Amino acid sequence: MERTLVLIKPDGVKKHLIGETIKRFEMRGLKIVALQMTWPTKEQMDSHYPKDNDWITGLGKNTIRSYEEFESPTTLIEDYGTEDAYEIGKSVREWLINFMTSGPIVKMVIEGLHSIKAVRKIIGQTIPAFAEPGTIRGDFSIDSPDYANLKKRAVQNLIHASGNKQEAEHEIQLWFSPEELHSYKTIQDFFL
Ligand code: ATP
Ligand code: MG
Repeated sequence: MERTLVLIKPDGVKKHLIGETIKRFEMRGLKIVALQMTWPTKEQMDSHYPKDNDWITGLGKNTIRSYEEFESPTTLIEDYGTEDAYEIGKSVREWLINFMTSGPIVKMVIEGLHSIKAVRKIIGQTIPAFAEPGTIRGDFSIDSPDYANLKKRAVQNLIHASGNKQEAEHEIQLWFSPEELHSYKTIQDFFL
């Protein structure tokens, strides 16, 4: 049994996808143990996304890869003034924080067997244009990093979900107090 944190991002809320998102987790037999709407502050989002060198450099590398892969009409130097992955990653992280604080989000904790992986499968891969139909991102969004980066903004992909156990632990304690996490039995518990 695992717990994972899900955020319906501002684009998901504005596209009326709160109910659809919750429905897809519930119909899988996953249990919602905490749920609330909130308008995040910049400080909260800054604590939410990792600050370590590896994570920021990884974001930068993804951006560099998308410039190459999609034959961007502009160069990295033109757009960022640098080709350094860490520096580019810092800009993308900044856009992400701006995006995540642009409207209310819905935060929830989801519990279930292998819930971290199961939830990410339901959501689909990061880049909406390549997400499989049948996933939330693949059914309701079409953004891509090359286009987003051209407009100097984050990829709008409806939902965030913890990537692994460490992320889940960090994110759950960041967004909820222990009293807000509920223990109860659902019908699914009787069949497992
Ligand atoms: P999330 O953490 O939101 O669940 P993820 O784990 O699939 O998504 P990460 O690599 O952690 O993806 O990136 C965090 C978020 O940053 C993405 O969901 C997306 O909104 C944004 N993002 C990632 N890469 C880029 C990029 N190259 N350009 C713009 N935004 C990006
Ligand atoms: Mg992530």
